[in-house]
Amino acid sequence: MCFLCEAKHSAWVRRRAFLGLAGAVAVSTAAPAIAQVQVGPPSNLRKLVPAEQLELAAAQEYAKLLADARAKGALASAGNPQLQRIRGVAGRLVPQTAQWNDRARQWQWEVNLLGSKQLNAFCMPGGKIAFYTGIIDQLKLTDDEIAMIMGHEMAHALREHARARIAKSQGTGTLLSLGSKLLGLGQLGDMAANMGTQLLTLKFSREDETDADLVGLELAARAGFNPQASVSLWEKMAQAGGGAGGPGFLSTHPSGPERIQHLQANVPKVQGLYLRARG
Ligand SMILES: [Zn+2]
Repeated sequence: MCFLCEAKHSAWVRRRAFLGLAGAVAVSTAAPAIAQVQVGPPSNLRKLVPAEQLELAAAQEYAKLLADARAKGALASAGNPQLQRIRGVAGRLVPQTAQWNDRARQWQWEVNLLGSKQLNAFCMPGGKIAFYTGIIDQLKLTDDEIAMIMGHEMAHALREHARARIAKSQGTGTLLSLGSKLLGLGQLGDMAANMGTQLLTLKFSREDETDADLVGLELAARAGFNPQASVSLWEKMAQAGGGAGGPGFLSTHPSGPERIQHLQANVPKVQGLYLRARG
């Protein structure tokens, strides 16, 4: 780690520590500092892709996806009880997001439910969330487990994993960072469309997955969702075939004993945050 990164990292850790402490003090001046998960700062590589551009591309791709689902009669309407349930979970998680990414304050969060047997869920950059009925129904998810999936997916967006992945792929990021002066608006439009398509098929690294597991766990605990649900969730995933390259979400999120043990080891670290949120 270079000096600059190290300095930034410790500033970031200090900031996280301060936020944790400030929260604890608000409850009781006698309360001890509450433990948190340990993760590093997000990748600097991501800065090669302008966040605004990626969020715009994601919003366009999301709108396209919703329009397709609507045309097939597969987009849940506002009165759908399952949709109301996942929106309720999101409503508790969203207020906890800004501490992980300042930009999240301006995001136009959206949560939709798609009627499909697929075991799938995602959150695109900029806070565009979709759940497929398959994952809720087949895994018989509790609200706490839904919060764990949603927290994990939100964490990918908040920690800008897609932004870093895209920056690494095909030099797209380098070209984008040159901006419209050199590229002409048509080419920029093509690249934005290309980024949008990439977002739906993106495969994150193991490090990104671990990062999203931990940040998601803390996010959910801060919103008052039981951290133990992270373990029961991945046990259900493993039973559904997550260990052997199962369909949809399971193919990109293998659930092995290592993942479950790592989450179990981190549950005590966020237990204090969970109990505080439950009051
Ligand atoms: Zn993931």
